[in-house]
Amino acid sequence: MKIKSNLAKNYNRKKISFCRGKGSFLYATNGSKYLDFVQGIAVNSLGHAHPKLIKTLNEQSKKVWHVSNAFTIPEGEQLAKKIAKKTFADYIIFQNSGAEATEAAIKVARRYFYSKGKFNKNRILCIKNSFHGRTIAAIYASGSKKMTEGFGPKVAGFDHFNFGDHKKMKKLISKKTAAIMVETIMGEGGIKQIPDWCLKGLRKICNKKDVLLILDEVQCGIGRTGDFFAFERSRVKPDIVPIAKGIGGGFPIGAVLMNKKVASGMIAGTHGSTFGGNPLAMKVGSTVLDIISNKNFLNNVKRNSKYFHYQLNKIKEKFPKIIKEVRGRGFLIGLQLHKDQTSFIKKLMHNKLLTIRAAENVVRILPPLNVKKNELNQAIKIIKKVCLEYK
Ligand SMILES: *Cc1c(COP(=O)(O)O)cnc(C)c1O
Repeated sequence: MKIKSNLAKNYNRKKISFCRGKGSFLYATNGSKYLDFVQGIAVNSLGHAHPKLIKTLNEQSKKVWHVSNAFTIPEGEQLAKKIAKKTFADYIIFQNSGAEATEAAIKVARRYFYSKGKFNKNRILCIKNSFHGRTIAAIYASGSKKMTEGFGPKVAGFDHFNFGDHKKMKKLISKKTAAIMVETIMGEGGIKQIPDWCLKGLRKICNKKDVLLILDEVQCGIGRTGDFFAFERSRVKPDIVPIAKGIGGGFPIGAVLMNKKVASGMIAGTHGSTFGGNPLAMKVGSTVLDIISNKNFLNNVKRNSKYFHYQLNKIKEKFPKIIKEVRGRGFLIGLQLHKDQTSFIKKLMHNKLLTIRAAENVVRILPPLNVKKNELNQAIKIIKKVCLEYK
């Protein structure tokens, strides 16, 4: 029998495909125009085909794409300097993806205690059914049965507690615990926020027990919530933060950010990446950062998302039997339904609005951060219509 597609079957793909994108919109090969509130899962933070990103990419593509990290890369120095200036971070290691960034975060934490002679302080405490990526270590960090099934032997060194189970969390912290690694807002897990007072509590416990705090901001960071990082509102300072998705605006970039203390373990030769931090990626990331870290830009995300949440909550009040809860913050939004969300997402798509699922019956809505108000209104109209027709 002839094989129809030579792509492995590891994705359950929709038939639809796209030939062009502009801002909040995607143009499908079937001729239809879609309002794209997936944006590559919070990756295209500035929408499709942003003129400044195109300009940066074009200009740098004529200069130099890639050189080895054996040499000094000024474009990377520049982006690292900008990140350090705007955030808690003193040092940065560039990667290419979120999973690589979370793995590097784990390595930084373990290596720090190793460098202090605490050779057994290497366990990482995580939330069960969280999401830290798909590499062998990251799936065992996530502690999800579905993600790890068939990929054993189990990677040792990870402990898990359920979201909100403070008692179990405290019980699991031992002298061997090197770090607590959590998503500030769980993305794949259903847009669940760790409350600010819990983040504060986590920081306190970490200080008391000599444990490092890793906040995975791969999905919720880079302006997604209206703050540059989701944790900023709590005023908590983490030790290590993996980022990815939004920082490249569609170009694959990952990074692990760290403070001076923990960076001391990462001496020459301890970590590396062939592609991570190449000039092309660094230039694009730099342009994305310049735009998003601007106060006016972030205030605009706050203002527009507040309006959108207000409208979504109005729909929820009108259709309490369909929508259980409007979750999230800024433009990291989940509509939690009372039942399975598959057909709801399909109906939104029929009405030309693209959204994506998350756990716990959640319809995830991820507009570009520079979405226009009339586009938000368009989405509201479609969601209302689908609620009216939904049974
Ligand atoms: C997407 C995601 C990752 C993994 O990123 P990849 O680029 O797919 O490897 C890790 N952590 C969080 C919180 C994510 O949302």
